[in-house]
Amino acid sequence: MYGSFGTTLIQGALLAGTILTAGQLSGRWLESSLVIVSALLVISVIRRNQMYDWLEKKPGTPLGHLPGMWVDMSQRVIHRERQLLRERDEAQMLLINLHQSLSSLDSGLVHLSPEWKINWWNAPASGLLGLREGYDTDAALFNLVRTPELVRFVEEGDFELPITLASPITTGRMLEYKVCPIQDSGFLLVIRDVTRFTRLERMRSDFVANVSHELKTPLTVITGYLETILDNQLVTSQGVRAVEQALKQSGRMNRLLQDLLLLSQLETTAPDPKPTQIRVSDILEHAVREANEVKNALQRETTQIHAITTSDYNLLGDWNELTSAINNLASNAVRYSPDGAVIELAFAVRNGQGLLTVRDNGPGILPEHLPRLTERFYRVDNSHSPATGGTGLGLAIVKHILLRHGGSLEIDSNPGSGSEFRCVFPKERTTTAR
Ligand code: ADP
Repeated sequence: MYGSFGTTLIQGALLAGTILTAGQLSGRWLESSLVIVSALLVISVIRRNQMYDWLEKKPGTPLGHLPGMWVDMSQRVIHRERQLLRERDEAQMLLINLHQSLSSLDSGLVHLSPEWKINWWNAPASGLLGLREGYDTDAALFNLVRTPELVRFVEEGDFELPITLASPITTGRMLEYKVCPIQDSGFLLVIRDVTRFTRLERMRSDFVANVSHELKTPLTVITGYLETILDNQLVTSQGVRAVEQALKQSGRMNRLLQDLLLLSQLETTAPDPKPTQIRVSDILEHAVREANEVKNALQRETTQIHAITTSDYNLLGDWNELTSAINNLASNAVRYSPDGAVIELAFAVRNGQGLLTVRDNGPGILPEHLPRLTERFYRVDNSHSPATGGTGLGLAIVKHILLRHGGSLEIDSNPGSGSEFRCVFPKERTTTAR
């Protein structure tokens, strides 16, 4: 800054000196000043044009001879130009490194425009989706990946969870798609090959199903013998209690095996391709009957169970699965609420979605347990008591049934004032009953 100020000062002094000398020599101050300033202006315009020409040329072209302040200016331009070139090279290097790093990932990445057109992808995405360099840029994603489930997933617009689908190009390969919206710049599609993982999941599920199945026969035999012993009074009065306890535990084990088998069946089989229209009032009626049986078995004499139905609706689904889900929730409400509780089963429609709700005014659940309630065998403390008769799989079963119906489970609960479990069904499964 001082440099340019100093140069300006020197140039000003030189100009003043020239005008003074010329004025004194010629004795014509005004004319000599005008001549000198005009000459300076002409030179400046020529230099400026020279400078413009140079600026238009390729970076690095020599400027040629320029005097005084033009040299200073051109040097500044050259300096700035070098700095910009350096920054550009660094940015290019960064971009190349970024591309190489993204291509060395295991996951496929595809950058999509807001209209779902393919902008860019990394090397693994080419392998996973069969994208071809030079052909598929700007192509619509759904022209290349023609999977109806993916189209539906995108149309629904809920990208919180990924979706797992069969590969569009390799039979037997399973791909997981996660859509990450990028603000104002479309979407990033992250694709993972989850074939091994799904195979392991399948093996785990098959293993549980096989073990449960194998245990059923010996358990039936044991239960049969225990019942025979009791019925025929084959033990002394001291032994009766032990046999009764054994029978109770074998009953519990039987329920556990049944729940495990049901859960693995829900996990491993495809949902019914032809679901039926089921009247919501029938589901509720069935659930109230079943809940009353639980109530009587547990001797909750003053507990009240009501079904609240306004206009009747239909749900598109599987009768056994839907009744199993709602019965589980209603049975929990009876089992976990003290005698005298009020339990309501209701149906309502919210933004076209069907809500099948089981509400109780029982003890409620602390908020920290809510996110884990649908995990297998997760139980809130103190619910291990045999009096509840649970297997720890009820809510996991409910969650799977709802997933198979395109729905979800919402839970609201306040310790001390009760719980509300809502089965949410998508619009297309909720219709008015004719
Ligand atoms: P369980 O077979 O033990 O009932 P669930 O999966 O059905 O297993 O429920 C998981 C846990 O959630 C239960 O152990 C219980 O602690 C809690 N729970 C479920 N429903 C209710 C309810 N209506 N009120 C209070 N706690 C509940």
